[in-house]
Amino acid sequence: MESVKRKIKTFKRGLLLPMRKSATEGKAVETAPVPKQVVIPVNQHFGAPNQALVTVGDYVKRGQKIADAAKPGSMTVPVHASAAGVVKKIEMHLQSNNTLGLCVFVESDPEKAESDTDFMPPLDPQTASKEDCLARVREAGVVGMGGAGFPSYVKLSPPTEKLGKIDTIIADGAECEPYLTTDEATMTEKPHRVVQGLAISMRITGVKRAIIGMEDNKKSLIPIMEREIRLAGLEDAITVGLCRTRYPQGGEKMLITALTGREVPSGGLPMDAGCIVQNVGSLATIAEAFYLGKPLIDRDLTVSGGACRIPKNIRVPIGTILMDLPEEFMKIDYHSLKKILFGGPMMGVSMATMDVPIQKNTSGVVLMTAAETTSDVEGPCIHCSRCIRNCPCRLSPALMNIALESGDLDSAVMAGLMDCMECGSCAYMCPARIKLVQRFRVGKQLMRRRQK
Ligand code: SF4
Ligand code: SF4
Repeated sequence: MESVKRKIKTFKRGLLLPMRKSATEGKAVETAPVPKQVVIPVNQHFGAPNQALVTVGDYVKRGQKIADAAKPGSMTVPVHASAAGVVKKIEMHLQSNNTLGLCVFVESDPEKAESDTDFMPPLDPQTASKEDCLARVREAGVVGMGGAGFPSYVKLSPPTEKLGKIDTIIADGAECEPYLTTDEATMTEKPHRVVQGLAISMRITGVKRAIIGMEDNKKSLIPIMEREIRLAGLEDAITVGLCRTRYPQGGEKMLITALTGREVPSGGLPMDAGCIVQNVGSLATIAEAFYLGKPLIDRDLTVSGGACRIPKNIRVPIGTILMDLPEEFMKIDYHSLKKILFGGPMMGVSMATMDVPIQKNTSGVVLMTAAETTSDVEGPCIHCSRCIRNCPCRLSPALMNIALESGDLDSAVMAGLMDCMECGSCAYMCPARIKLVQRFRVGKQLMRRRQK
């Protein structure tokens, strides 16, 4: 039992949301079978594009690399086959971000889909060089599994002039999105892997301090995590930090402010506040890449929502098409189903079909009823300033929206567009139901395209 009274930290602003996690909270992760076919997007990360390394007709093993950087040295991570089988086609398919992307279709071998593997040999992070450790994180294809999809090896290899100023690695286990309980399940079932992943990250970067951050609705996990820290002999290096349950506490900037009191400057990255933030699922995957040689080919996710008859935490091979999940893993009430979300209700992407693959960054699928969603009819801005009062990044969403509506991208950027973390708090609070965050996502894409 916890004997010390723990200070609960937080950031300014933010929302108290109905969390709706009870349907899957504390439920064990159930492993879904390998489907007859996996559809694996060649690009599942934030960064430069990959190219396919296989051709139609090739036999691939589970764990075999099937896509990697189109240009050597660019910011990418490889993609691996999640089932052994034959490449049937390589063509465009709808991805979980609602865009078409190149995908490798693997027809899984009914006899060997899981057993015929091509994993890497285990690597001891204590004896391997830092360069080899970093290369392993990249080769395993690890990305931010909380939703961002940012390559983990890039976070662990900041520019030399920044590295000296980084003194803290934060394990992000806040999981502030309603419905989702995937990170909670990871910390419950694989706490040793989370601690190992942190230790590996500290070894690669030379950073001496780490904090496992979680919201206070998960405080029952503190003894579990602290036990693993003790078993690893890392009590002097790793602590557990408790944050108030408040949306978007799991955002990198919010977590850094809550746990260290520091602010990430406008236009800056966590490293500018002396921190590296890694999702707990990504850390566990890093540990498996060293101790099992296993790349990122499976992922845990929450399947929940009012139109989901048996909400669950499940583990699936990446590339599993949502509608191919057996009924015992995703039982849908089609009469009440109104919206399919990849991710949580605040930052997730609404999909019009279930013919979409589960990807490296799919933390959950929420099947919502009409009662759980709001009207999509936009009204005029009534200048109430609720969006401004609730923006955790202290931006002016109303001004950004006016600028974008009139096609003035520069004014939107001046008002802070590129600092928007797309948390959706402004849209949630807007009484006029203005699609603020949706517009900001498009605006940011236009700006990035222009910058390119
Ligand atoms: S979506 Fe962007 S503008 Fe809106 S509240 Fe979040 S950070 Fe602020
Ligand atoms: S919350 Fe909506 S209505 Fe109110 S100022 Fe912002 S955009 Fe306008």
